[in-house]
Amino acid sequence: MQEKYFETEAENLQKFVDSLIADNFDVIAPKDKDGDVFYGKIDKFIDANLSILLPKVSYKEYLLPKTETLFEYSLSGTDVNIKDGLDMYYGENKKRVIFGGRPCDAASGPIMEKVFNWDYKDEFFNERFKNLTIISMACEKPDNYCFCTEMQLSPESSYGSDILLKRGDNMYYVSVLSEKGLSLITPHLSLFKEISRDRMPAGKDWKKVFEIGKTKSFLDKNFEHNYFQDRFLSCIGCGICTYTCPTCHCFDIQDEGNLKEGRRIRNWDSCQFAIFTLHTSGHNPRVTQGDRYRQRLMHKFKIYNEKFNKYLCVGCGRCSRNCPEDIDIKEIAGDLAGLI
Ligand code: SF4
Ligand code: SF4
Repeated sequence: MQEKYFETEAENLQKFVDSLIADNFDVIAPKDKDGDVFYGKIDKFIDANLSILLPKVSYKEYLLPKTETLFEYSLSGTDVNIKDGLDMYYGENKKRVIFGGRPCDAASGPIMEKVFNWDYKDEFFNERFKNLTIISMACEKPDNYCFCTEMQLSPESSYGSDILLKRGDNMYYVSVLSEKGLSLITPHLSLFKEISRDRMPAGKDWKKVFEIGKTKSFLDKNFEHNYFQDRFLSCIGCGICTYTCPTCHCFDIQDEGNLKEGRRIRNWDSCQFAIFTLHTSGHNPRVTQGDRYRQRLMHKFKIYNEKFNKYLCVGCGRCSRNCPEDIDIKEIAGDLAGLI
């Protein structure tokens, strides 16, 4: 659709979000919790922490829950009863808005969507993605771990957002980017003033410190390079990098139950766990942590790119910020680009 542009006073943005909550939307926003900030459901606008750069963990769990029931079964006599996992997940309310995330997090949705629709259409993911409306907030200042610019995005990237907000002086500039965004805002148009595109403030960008194309060129030719074994000796295989990442999406499916009742569940998994590739025979094709982190790099910067012409990384820097061993993917991708 043709993008539309608005401006709104800060107090009207608050009224808009509070109206969405009153209209029975689940509004998920960065929210203070246990001395940190996580995405969580807010009951009113002022519960959102909009000053944080990024919540500690991405909102991936609203697209791919940490654990979810795919179906439940039970037998009574010869009757088999099946309960659909999606119905159990949603209950009665499907209307959900992610408010106040950053453009890097918004970009993760369409990047993951490609994976979940490539050889099999994952109706669980697709249903959640379809029902999510994303209102993002442009970034004002990166930290040392951010590298969205290297990942073909920017602090004001609109990729994956339905609405993008840009802070002005006690007001916000509002870009409405999709039909979903337009239908969310349309009942509340009295709170917004439409403006022309040339009234929108000029975009900004951070300086790139490496070229991701060079990182890929290195990965294309150097599967056996010593870098991988040396650099990841300190990695403890905890998987935090993958669990906090907005685009890592590995999962495992388990059956639990007996002849009378049970369920099939899907849980997050991680390529950083030694057991992830362990065969029943005892053989493991990824023996060292270097092998495992190399896989993560290959998947993000080479394999996904060759299939979908994008990268499986949005440069949010979470994996680095949260790593107990201070393993910094921006530094690593830059190292590899420099080795070519
Ligand atoms: S968070 Fe750090 S230590 Fe843990 S698996 Fe990832 S790279 Fe290794
Ligand atoms: S790999 Fe790291 S920087 Fe890239 S999207 Fe995942 S958490 Fe963010």
